[in-house]
Amino acid sequence: MSPKYKPPPYNYCDYRCAQCNEKENCLVYKENQERLLNHYLKGEDPNDPDIFLKDLQKIFKKTTEMIKKSAAEYDIDTAKLPDNEEPKINPRDYVVYQLAFQYARESHNFIKQLQNEAIPESVLEDFDDLLWYHSLIVAKTGRLVSGFNDRFFDDEIKKMEEEGTLSVIKKGIKLSKNALHHMLNELPEHFYTISDLLELLNRLSEQLQKDMHQQVESTLSDSN
Ligand code: SF4
Repeated sequence: MSPKYKPPPYNYCDYRCAQCNEKENCLVYKENQERLLNHYLKGEDPNDPDIFLKDLQKIFKKTTEMIKKSAAEYDIDTAKLPDNEEPKINPRDYVVYQLAFQYARESHNFIKQLQNEAIPESVLEDFDDLLWYHSLIVAKTGRLVSGFNDRFFDDEIKKMEEEGTLSVIKKGIKLSKNALHHMLNELPEHFYTISDLLELLNRLSEQLQKDMHQQVESTLSDSN
């Protein structure tokens, strides 16, 4: 791989476009804005499920064409690819994923509880952060562990992938912790729940630092 290769910003982003400094350089953002503008000019609602489904079909078609073009550039005949699949990884075999999953599950319950109670104004921004990252952290952690045994990419790309994915996870943890700390002050009635969530995020951070490849005991893995 060329040392000058620079992955596009969206490869390792948190998809929060409104708050992103890379909008000017981001093809995903540009194309999405164009898509929205086209619909508005035609008087269409881009969030209408039928419209959105058609857009999705176009995106899949375009992605397929890009993959074919890329395969042709590397002399890969996609018709001759072997049928045998790469061995699948079970993300739940990894301690980091188990922690991220437990955090996602418990924070989801807390989010539902807050929604039912009506969210106080003073924590609206914190709530947004919590909501946004609670699923992103576990999704990106799944992506991280799935790459551990990847035999397709070379070591340089694997390292870049891993570091990029880790940076998004760490950003999500940091902003979620900030949000939870502020909530702790504002919502003392939820002290125990918030403290548990912070504890889980701390354990996840420590595990990522200590040994992100560590696997869980099979008994623990089977019971989840
Ligand atoms: S603009 Fe959006 S898609 Fe592009 S890098 Fe930023 S957050 Fe990601």
